[in-house]
Amino acid sequence: MHNYTIAQLRKMLDAKEFSSVELTQHYLNRIHQHQDTLNAFITICDETALQQAAEADKRIQKGDIEPLTGIPLAQKDIFCTKGIKTTCASKMLDNFIAPYESTLTQQFLNAGAVMLGKTNMDEFAMGSSNENSFYGPTKNPWDVTTVPGGSSGGSSAAVAALLSPGATASDTGGSIRQPAGLTGICGIKPTYGSISRYGMIAFASSLDQAGPMARTAEDLAILLNCMTGFDPKDSTSVDHPHDDYTTQLNQSLKGLRIGIPVDFFDDRLNPDMANTIQEAIRVFETQGATIHDIHLPHNHAAIAAYYVIAPAECSSNLARFDGVRYGYRCNNPENLLDLYRRSRSEGFGAEVKRRIMVGTYALSSKVYDACYLKAQKIRRLITQDFIEAFKNVDMIMGPTSPSTAFKLGERCQDPVQMYLSDMYTIAVNLAGLPGASIPAGFINNMPVGLQIIGHYFDEARMMGIAHQFQQLTDWHLQVPSNFK
Ligand code: GLN
Repeated sequence: MHNYTIAQLRKMLDAKEFSSVELTQHYLNRIHQHQDTLNAFITICDETALQQAAEADKRIQKGDIEPLTGIPLAQKDIFCTKGIKTTCASKMLDNFIAPYESTLTQQFLNAGAVMLGKTNMDEFAMGSSNENSFYGPTKNPWDVTTVPGGSSGGSSAAVAALLSPGATASDTGGSIRQPAGLTGICGIKPTYGSISRYGMIAFASSLDQAGPMARTAEDLAILLNCMTGFDPKDSTSVDHPHDDYTTQLNQSLKGLRIGIPVDFFDDRLNPDMANTIQEAIRVFETQGATIHDIHLPHNHAAIAAYYVIAPAECSSNLARFDGVRYGYRCNNPENLLDLYRRSRSEGFGAEVKRRIMVGTYALSSKVYDACYLKAQKIRRLITQDFIEAFKNVDMIMGPTSPSTAFKLGERCQDPVQMYLSDMYTIAVNLAGLPGASIPAGFINNMPVGLQIIGHYFDEARMMGIAHQFQQLTDWHLQVPSNFK
């Protein structure tokens, strides 16, 4: 049962080949079976999942069916789920039962989808390897001595190991695309503002964007249809006509103009990775797409700008965790200041503290102009580079990540090396553009992700292009041998 895509499962549920309860139980069994090895979940929701599945079965009986009715999914533990522990992988929220539902998870509930559980992640979505989780690292199903990427490593590992046919994730600087790339699955971060951030625990609000992960582009399109839409509860939600993301799946690649950022293929890119990506791009060429070199002259400054802007926003967003209102509180505080200080220093992990300190510094009056204002100017230049490039090309393609999955522990002592994992993804968040990663090959049995960057609100076409690629290749159908 676990080998089917969401689109296939829909047909099988409708044909009553099995019930949603049977399907859900099957996935729950797999999750429990592999939890010790992968640690992909923080909370497994056996009871509520089976209740939701039973409700979905009733809907299916009555013919009240939406595309996701009865489909089991995993939710990143960054989304508030009413009555269910919502931790953001932090000790700070280890005891937090969300009192309300995020808009995103509510949309899935309305559609009759089943929530299998809440997936592991880097604490407050800060990281590129899932090693910053209070609950321990998630492992990559392709090689459990390597990382699954981050921050959405639990979601990507769950989908790659067929513990769930799809999952939600979030991407502030690459956290959907990079883990999707490192685990050989598909993921898309849509245009900023497309999916509500209401109830998604904030890291860097001007960059945070939710999105789906799945095994095929078609499934991403189905999930996106449920996830996007205007939400008055989110002040940055965009009121944009809602595409049906599946409508362009069968469009031909003929005449598609693909831009290749020459700056992405310098000596920092592993040569095997460069070859694999170039071969993938050739597949599009054989279908009549044309290839054009483009320049993104300010991309080299993206990481530096991001690591001012994201920490600045996080230092403000995380100020709410003060030990007073909710979350972790230290024992026997001597006074109010001691309560703040110890609750925060005991409740947050090392990377989160590093970001809060960097962000607070960048916003301080002495360096504000030199750091924060400068970073915002760079952000504008980066955005303009993309807008300029999209005058001549329809899509931009390149690697998702500079290397395949690295070993657990390898980059923990060197934050800068860790930050460089996102050198091809971060600019897309700074510009607010949609970016996807799809499986494009293997190097030494480890998956390689191809990044596809589209113009604002061009997700339907991106899904079509990815779908066409998946009609011609079978990288996305490969499954790690211990999880078949
Ligand atoms: N790796 C980046 C960071 O640590 C991006 C994380 C994300 O996209 N949530 O901030």
